[in-house]
Amino acid sequence: LRRNPGEVEFHQAVREVFESLGPVLRKNPQYVEAAVLERICEPERQIIFRVPWVDDTGRVRINRGFRVEYNSALGPFKGGLRFHPSVYLGIVKFLGFEQIFKNALTGLPIGGGKGGSDFDPRGRSDGEVMRFCQSFMTELYRHIGEYTDVPAGDIGVGAREVGYLFGQYKRITNRYESGVLTGKGLTWGGSLVRREATGYGAVLFAQSMLGTQAESLDGRRVSVSGSGNVAIYAAEKAQQLGGRVITFSDSSGYVVDEAGIDLDLLKEVKEVERGRVSDYVDRRPGARLVSEGSIWDVPTDVALPCATQNELTEADAKQLVANGVRAVAEGANMPTTPEAVSLLRDAGVLFGPGKAANAGGVATSALEMQQNASRDSWSFEYTESRLAEIMTGIHDSCLATAEEYEAPGDYVVGANVAGFTKVADAMIAFGVI
Ligand code: NDP
Repeated sequence: LRRNPGEVEFHQAVREVFESLGPVLRKNPQYVEAAVLERICEPERQIIFRVPWVDDTGRVRINRGFRVEYNSALGPFKGGLRFHPSVYLGIVKFLGFEQIFKNALTGLPIGGGKGGSDFDPRGRSDGEVMRFCQSFMTELYRHIGEYTDVPAGDIGVGAREVGYLFGQYKRITNRYESGVLTGKGLTWGGSLVRREATGYGAVLFAQSMLGTQAESLDGRRVSVSGSGNVAIYAAEKAQQLGGRVITFSDSSGYVVDEAGIDLDLLKEVKEVERGRVSDYVDRRPGARLVSEGSIWDVPTDVALPCATQNELTEADAKQLVANGVRAVAEGANMPTTPEAVSLLRDAGVLFGPGKAANAGGVATSALEMQQNASRDSWSFEYTESRLAEIMTGIHDSCLATAEEYEAPGDYVVGANVAGFTKVADAMIAFGVI
């Protein structure tokens, strides 16, 4: 705490992992002797930089850019960039720290990192976003590369931003290095299924958890929060598996659509028009926008928080349990507060933590890197089958690890321990570095 003052989200993420590790350290004293815990908390490298750009009125603006290269024991640093006004070092470090274990769980050769800026793309013109991205990359390019550090999208960074970033990287370096960024457009090195992967993966994870109780999503009420990349494709896969998705949200409120949401309309509003959830309600009879209270008050069987950190509180968890929720799978990173996680686990609700449940996105990014390295592009069906295989693998490895460490059915312990041991073993193999 003293080394990292004020970084509350980072402290929360570290505590959550460390709370699972007691039995692992007792069984593996070599981790303690080699100071793996102390080393794993300290990023290998942190870069903080000025991002100057000019807005449409000609005014000079300054934002702060970050890249935290957290751990490269298993492969090049890998993790998204977040553009949101709330971004500061504590958020980037929490996300980077989580990313180490998530990436290990995928079984693919990727280390952990994260970055971003306090830039707010909402309400900015295309030209402003482009100039910002170009300025951001003008510093970032010297730190990244196919074998070094491979950024991608996150909140506020989608295909448009990745395009501007990649264009500037290509221009500065004079290299068409496809593997330097993932989440690219399909005509210039992107992978089919990457857009869908995080949301699809989270729902597949929920389906696997329900499967352990001989249940499924079919005919279930499903609540999704957020209305961005993860939320939209979580809703799509939940519908494909027979669920009735009844909610989504943005920072202005949440929508309840008891008939089951109209996904085409939602995509039109969010992906094409870059509109707000109120634009959906204006065009959808029967849907209502609620701007007070919590989305988790709406009775549901399966809850998929897909917006942002700490959006599902203890009071929300209480309400979900009172309403008979069966499963919660985190599409977002750390959306459930620690108190809410304890309450859900104590109530016997199936709980899939983000580092396992939302790992489908980064896993498919690693598949994008494989395609780039082999100058190939795979079909949607093949890529989706790889994603499904990876999600089943993550689910089963969490379950088996939880069992091994005497916490049967506890996916939090399973994910933390399975991810940690893989990274720790590699760090020990490399000596003290
Ligand atoms: P997007 O920017 O596409 O969407 C974010 C959504 O969450 C928007 O609807 C946004 O609403 C809402 N939101 C953001 N902050 C808040 C807030 N403070 N209160 C209420 N709503 C909020 O981001 P993604 O869908 O890509 O990311 C969502 C989450 O999933 C994040 O936690 C991210 O780290 C995680 N994730 C994403 C992956 C990916 O592949 N994209 C991979 C793994 C995890 P508004 O527009 O009003 O801000």
